[in-house]
Amino acid sequence: MSANHGGTLFIVAAPSGAGKSTLVNALLEREPGISLSISHTTRPPRPGEQYGRHYYFVERAEFEREVAEGIFLEHAEVHGNFYGTSCKTVQELLEQGRDVLLEIDWQGAAQIRKTKPDCVSVFILPPSRTELERRLRGRGSDSEEVIERRLRNSRGEIAHAHEFDYIVVNDRFEDALDGIQAIVRAVRQRSELQCQRHEALIGELLAED
Ligand code: 5GP
Repeated sequence: MSANHGGTLFIVAAPSGAGKSTLVNALLEREPGISLSISHTTRPPRPGEQYGRHYYFVERAEFEREVAEGIFLEHAEVHGNFYGTSCKTVQELLEQGRDVLLEIDWQGAAQIRKTKPDCVSVFILPPSRTELERRLRGRGSDSEEVIERRLRNSRGEIAHAHEFDYIVVNDRFEDALDGIQAIVRAVRQRSELQCQRHEALIGELLAED
């Protein structure tokens, strides 16, 4: 938890194709108290992706300027493109008491653990290599070259799974979703937070008759 007992920062990472975005979107529908942080990226938009909704799509020069200005909480190169999380938005939401979810890679997660050691990180694994490849191809929006690169890079991502607080295997979608939701709900009921929220209740229960 942050020092001001604001919201919790959740990190969700996975190899490309593990179903992370679908899981995260379903989680956000089930748990309205969480805000998704929208990253900045130099990757070109996929068909249907919108500026400000999926990403802030920026040119490489602009991204480099933003890095130099220090606007990022973390940033990393992933699959040949640059991605970064804006510090300001995340901080404001946390201070308002909102939980914030970052969908980022293991490098970004490692950077955040250093500056925000109270974050909660979750890694999503696919149930098998064959299924990972099938899901990557099924997306239909990436070129063969992009798919090959993402498959090659998946080992590098999965090798860091043990650094995360929780690991969820996305075999049956509903089970994986229940798993992530259980993590979020358990974290929200940590005694450190609950003692703050329910100070009056605890005081009343402890009062002598
Ligand atoms: P995609 O291009 O498929 O949207 O994302 C590729 C990878 O970049 C995914 O692993 C995704 O989690 C990661 N990613 C997206 N945004 C960020 C970010 O702001 N920072 C970092 N470090 N990784 C990100």
